[in-house]
Amino acid sequence: MVHSNAEHPGDVIARLRATFRTGRTKPLSWRREQLIALRTMLTEHSQEFAAALHADLGKSEREVFRTEIGSTVGEIDHTLEHLEEWLRPEPVEVPERLRTATAWTVHDPLGVVLVIAPWNYPAHLLLAPVVGALAAGNCVVAKPSELAPATSRVIAELLPQFVDSDALAVVEGAVPEVTALLEQHLDHIFYTGNGTVGRIVMRAAAEHLTPVTLELGGKSPAFVDQGTDLQTVASRLVATKFLNAGQTCVAPDYVLTDPVTASKLEDALETAVQQTYGDDPAASPEYGRIVNERHFDRLTGFLGSGRPVVGGEHDRASRYLAPTVLAGVAPDSPVMSEEIFGPILPIVEVAGLDEAIAFINERDKPLALYAFTESATTRDRLLAETSSGGVGFGLPLAHLTVSDLPFGGVGESGMGNYHGRYSLETFSHRKAVLDMPLG
Ligand code: NAD
Repeated sequence: MVHSNAEHPGDVIARLRATFRTGRTKPLSWRREQLIALRTMLTEHSQEFAAALHADLGKSEREVFRTEIGSTVGEIDHTLEHLEEWLRPEPVEVPERLRTATAWTVHDPLGVVLVIAPWNYPAHLLLAPVVGALAAGNCVVAKPSELAPATSRVIAELLPQFVDSDALAVVEGAVPEVTALLEQHLDHIFYTGNGTVGRIVMRAAAEHLTPVTLELGGKSPAFVDQGTDLQTVASRLVATKFLNAGQTCVAPDYVLTDPVTASKLEDALETAVQQTYGDDPAASPEYGRIVNERHFDRLTGFLGSGRPVVGGEHDRASRYLAPTVLAGVAPDSPVMSEEIFGPILPIVEVAGLDEAIAFINERDKPLALYAFTESATTRDRLLAETSSGGVGFGLPLAHLTVSDLPFGGVGESGMGNYHGRYSLETFSHRKAVLDMPLG
């Protein structure tokens, strides 16, 4: 199978731009065909995706269907259902002095857009933005992560067989390939990954005045209020923190709670880990592995940051790190100095809500803020007094599965957003139109 790495990045972009100029990507029918083809690719080749994702990250088939294939198919179906309605010109009111005129907005495709994906959900985080880019009528260069090589290979082989290959190209590779792509004139760059590379992307984009969407990470706190049902809290924390062995951008990074709740929560978390992964998580087919040795070493380096009350076991050869809870973690300890992005949950004690809010506001704006509380006042205060990409009360992660909610960060956790109609907005130009009759 030929994929685009045989071509120079400049030639790839020129080829896609030539397609875009023919206008072929603009009709609704073309856009729908591409989305349906993408869907077919995912459902007909789900086993290849499952095998690749298992090879790259030890993901179980169940997890692949839920968080990689199912989530992308869900995004496709939602877009197919609403695209026609979203694309309708939107009339706007005109001022009195222009009363004989009409005014409206339309969505214009941008042209050739680049989607750069990370390794942690290497299929979904590439394909979900691609859904939006195609739905908006663009040509797309898709760059999967080299750190999930098996998934990258499957995507490079399959995608051009299903989607119009004059309008979409997959470029595999690492820093040199991305660097060469970033030198080209693109019409939008959609980057998911870390803030260091986010800055490289934005600098390169500035050269061509190319707009960017940066989907970055950060430390998403989970505030646990006193008096909540800790067994429920613990099982929801475990389900969302240890999914994909903690390698999820919106995973709860750490817990903030008062000392009394903290000690009860430790026990509840131990029970919840046992219920979810059994006595030996290493033997659970549901539990993933750390992506590579560099990340494994980084993560095990955090284990001394607190008292391990759950887990802590690890094995470098298989890149296994048990679901781990660290208690009594100091705010300035290493595990609190960067996004963990692995299966370690530190519990940081604060006196109460005021201190929790101050703690959150002293740090970078997180991608998500979670809170478990029965108090509406506490929820209102957290909403009003903190800033984050999104908020989940009572259940982490679920907000990003709602296609009608925008997904994205703020400040250090990113800029711009996508999902559902927000993807269409991201990958389109909202063109303003005014029509004044001549007569
Ligand atoms: P990564 O290392 O796979 O990098 C992402 C992409 O950047 C890859 O395609 C890679 O080829 C490219 N890249 C790497 N170095 C580069 C360089 N010097 N110049 C140009 N391109 C380069 O993934 P990662 O950054 O380790 O991903 C983890 C981070 O991503 C975490 O911070 C996580 O929170 C964040 N993340 C955010 C989201 C979100 O939706 N907001 C989702 C997943 C991950």
